[in-house]
Amino acid sequence: MTAHSTRVGNRLLAALPPEDFGLLTPHFQKVSFEPDAVLVRSGDELDQVYFPHSGAVTFMVEMPDGQTVANTLLGREGALASFSVLGPSRSSVTAIVRVGGTASRIAAPKFRLAYARSAAIRHVVQVHVRALLLQLQHVAACNALHQVEGRLARWLLQLHDRVPDDVLPLTQEALAQLLGVRRTTVTLTMNKFRAAGAIRTDRRGFIEVNRTRLNGIACECYAVMERRIDRMYCHELSEPQVALAPFQESFTVAFR
Ligand SMILES: [Zn+2]
Repeated sequence: MTAHSTRVGNRLLAALPPEDFGLLTPHFQKVSFEPDAVLVRSGDELDQVYFPHSGAVTFMVEMPDGQTVANTLLGREGALASFSVLGPSRSSVTAIVRVGGTASRIAAPKFRLAYARSAAIRHVVQVHVRALLLQLQHVAACNALHQVEGRLARWLLQLHDRVPDDVLPLTQEALAQLLGVRRTTVTLTMNKFRAAGAIRTDRRGFIEVNRTRLNGIACECYAVMERRIDRMYCHELSEPQVALAPFQESFTVAFR
């Protein structure tokens, strides 16, 4: 086993043995992305696979009348366009960055070749896809059954899990798009959260969260989903094979 010094923050990549990780590294491009950047549009070919090291990306379903709703959130625990291993295909959702971050990007055909060669890569992708499907099914039920207060608190907690501090750089417009509701509904709900001490808004308009109080408001989906996904990752992914650390190399591509 050869040692390799590449330091990654992505949980799937970190679980790969060095020789399997080495199948990917020659093809990786380091990218950074800003909030609101669109990584893939609905209908686009899934020609790139992204492994985020930080930040948060939401998968948005867009209706013909322009309404949107989020059905999944992805951060350093996952991979964007992982379904491309099934063969060339087009995206059914639009992937929008909600919290800026960094990722390793690889062309889908190169990733499919490595996937075919490495049982370890197949395993981490399969674990991730199962976790993604679990989230997708749970959020679909949550969107249909639960009130906007519980759903908004759930999204805020999920986003908070993927930022380094208590401040979420999110606009009310972005939250309205996530929830599939009007902005005025978000304003009213945020006022209730503020009155309950669950959030504060800082000078920049960013949201500072109080996790304990938000947990009291969030629907049960947050705890159930996180527990199941965490259990799946802990049981099925090996200990990190590569040191977990912020991705520090320079970036060749930036999305704004
Ligand atoms: Zn729910």
